[in-house]
Amino acid sequence: MGTAYTVKLAGLPGRLVEQALRADIERILHRIDARMSIYREDSELARFNAARTTGWFSVSAETERVITEAVRIAVLSDGAFDVTVGPLVNLWGFGRDGRAVAPPSDAAIRAALTRVGYRQLQTRPDPPAVRKRRADVVVDLGGIAKGYAVDALAEHFEKAGATNYLVDIGGDLKGGGHNAVRQSWTVGIEEPSNGRQALRRLVQLRNVAIATSGNYRNYFEHAGRRYSHIIDPRNGRPITHGLVSASVIAPSAMYADAMATAIMVLGPEAGYALAQREGIAAYLVMRQGEGFSELATPAFQRYIVR
Ligand code: AMP
Ligand code: MG
Repeated sequence: MGTAYTVKLAGLPGRLVEQALRADIERILHRIDARMSIYREDSELARFNAARTTGWFSVSAETERVITEAVRIAVLSDGAFDVTVGPLVNLWGFGRDGRAVAPPSDAAIRAALTRVGYRQLQTRPDPPAVRKRRADVVVDLGGIAKGYAVDALAEHFEKAGATNYLVDIGGDLKGGGHNAVRQSWTVGIEEPSNGRQALRRLVQLRNVAIATSGNYRNYFEHAGRRYSHIIDPRNGRPITHGLVSASVIAPSAMYADAMATAIMVLGPEAGYALAQREGIAAYLVMRQGEGFSELATPAFQRYIVR
């Protein structure tokens, strides 16, 4: 999935062997990667994308689940989160085709937009399959699959009896139980700057996950303007509002991952309104003058340590 991961386990019961758990982790991540990555041409998702058919395409139950959740969050966010955004991500130089040095033309954006829209997707759980209404629609799970992988590892640890864990895949985290000194896992939310890595906030993860979507690290600059890797699928362009990062805490890392991206696309007003309406624990950091301002929903506040 083009990212790195860290797993911390504390207070392992004696019957659990670290090497076996390590093998489990690698097996699970490899399985998800082989199904949902678009960085490899043989993944289930890459084959679905390449298929020039509008008929049902069989996939694993977990790929179907992730796409179904993605469509649900697309509906909730009024299309701000949309896993069919890939052609636009590529067009703006944030996909597999390599970096862009300048923005694309309006005509190219219009052309890409005709292939974008979550309403083009349909899923079916039994037997698990997905279909697209246009054969050239593609799915990019980059905004949700990391979260799913975090949930998959957390679930595995729970089942195996390794109930004290902290999983981090590319900045999506879930904490269960306690750390080595028997305290709840505490993680930081970074100060959105390019240089020094200061922490703005500390939050406690008691059997919940946190995901952060930010546009302060992945962008390109052209003619004095900055273009973010978060694309608004509704107009085909990188977001331009003053929201620099959105963090969401939820029991499901998959939900938190997608919702953080959705809020990031929606911006400070509409994003906060969605979080309020859905009772989401969300934390927003906005650019303000030379510095930053922040906004936490009431649901988020109870996780803040400092
Ligand atoms: P995240 O890092 O979780 O915010 O997700 C960013 C990734 O999600 C990007 O690299 C794209 O692959 C994908 N993406 C970009 N814009 C959107 C969007 N509007 N909806 C869904 N996924 C997106
Ligand atoms: Mg995300």
